[in-house]
Amino acid sequence: MLKYRGNIKDQWIDFKYWGMNWLSILGLVASNPCKVITSLFKYPVIYHLLKVNHLAKTLNVDRNGTALLLSEINLHYFTKGVLRQLQTFVYGAQDSILENSMIPTEIYQAMDLKVICAELLGNLDTFCDHRSAAAYLDAIENNGLPSDTCSYTRISAGVFASGEMPRNVKAFVTNNLPCEGGLGSNVYYADNLDVPIYRLDSPYYFKKEDSLDAFVEDIRGMISFLEEHTGHRMNWNKLREVLERENRIDELELERWDMAASEIPALASENIWMQHWWHYNLEPGHPESLKWYNEQHEHIKKAYESKEPALKNLRYRTVMWNTPPLMFSGFWSWLERCWGIAMLNDMMTYGHFEDMFIDTNTNETMLKGLAGRWCSHTMSRHTRGAVEDFLPDIWQMVERFQADFFLVAGHIGCRSSVAMTGLMKEECRKRDIPICIFDYELLDSRVCSRQGIRDQINHFMFNVMKAKPLDENLLVFDDAAAW
Ligand code: SF4
Repeated sequence: MLKYRGNIKDQWIDFKYWGMNWLSILGLVASNPCKVITSLFKYPVIYHLLKVNHLAKTLNVDRNGTALLLSEINLHYFTKGVLRQLQTFVYGAQDSILENSMIPTEIYQAMDLKVICAELLGNLDTFCDHRSAAAYLDAIENNGLPSDTCSYTRISAGVFASGEMPRNVKAFVTNNLPCEGGLGSNVYYADNLDVPIYRLDSPYYFKKEDSLDAFVEDIRGMISFLEEHTGHRMNWNKLREVLERENRIDELELERWDMAASEIPALASENIWMQHWWHYNLEPGHPESLKWYNEQHEHIKKAYESKEPALKNLRYRTVMWNTPPLMFSGFWSWLERCWGIAMLNDMMTYGHFEDMFIDTNTNETMLKGLAGRWCSHTMSRHTRGAVEDFLPDIWQMVERFQADFFLVAGHIGCRSSVAMTGLMKEECRKRDIPICIFDYELLDSRVCSRQGIRDQINHFMFNVMKAKPLDENLLVFDDAAAW
């Protein structure tokens, strides 16, 4: 049931996007009801995604105005994007490739290839309903991947191990990212697929010219491999179009940040990272991504000009490091309602986009731009190091967004980033920045519950920030069984 939001306009937005999400889903069903229903039985992982309208409700408790609208738009584009990916599940994957995340997906667009991103569904499922994760995490543990491997990579391998990902693809493209957890699970796919495989090797010291040149050659190798095994040809003009759209999106992204960094932030919380995450990971430079950015930009600009805050009761500004707690989709809404905290940027989003515009003059410059960009990717640069490549970003973020404190999502499955926490603490002490580290596991709410996360943040807010909650009823409540 949709709860009345207190005014007709917001109520209409709620209802409109609720209806539009269902219409998009039903559009796929209507295209071939028999195949869609068969796919739901064959790949039950799809089922949890039908909870998208419930997710909208969870993200937007007590929200109104532009913040609500941005979130609804995000979820609608998410829904359409996921439906594009699901075409391969429904209509067959014979003409598709399977890929791991953090591979230059612009190449697929330029080659007109259908792609299944292995990491997508398991992670999104958990965001829609955290209870869905356990079965897939257990499935891959039973197949030999240790339980202390990060759940980001483990869950996708679990979906694959459960037979809920098509295997009759033309080829598999994998890489050495994001970390040792990624390597462990990527090997599992390779061992269980009977198709040609290309392994892309992202350099660690990517700021060295010769490392980057080697990566460019590697991307060329990937293109030749795809041409050989899929029959699709590289279209350099199409790549140029994709990259030009991507450059435009970078401009919009930087303007968004300025509006979030202002005295009265026009956007905050998951509205900061969700759109960025989709665009930069899955469909960079896609026409739908630019449309999405343009549409949001209009609304953010209006809110900024009319000084409409992203939060009704803004009391604290923060920036967050590490991957967002996908097992607690109501996290941002809880921060807002319980403590009046606005998250204004985060590790998923932050990067030096002002230095990443891609020169589209020649094929060579395009490949070099792409290589540099993907080496600077969130979990490439930010969680595996080198430390000098990411630590300064934190202090820039804190300063730029005028954070009152620094929030660290201490994902215990991310060993390399946990190891860096000590450095962050030390540096925060020197700079006199309050730091709140809460332990959690990205997708597994059995390791640290959602109340466990709330307890840690409550403790910090009471004892370090000497704050009073906006609503005491939100300090402790039982949501273990909720989606
Ligand atoms: S969150 Fe950390 S451990 Fe998990 S995939 Fe990313 S880099 Fe690896």
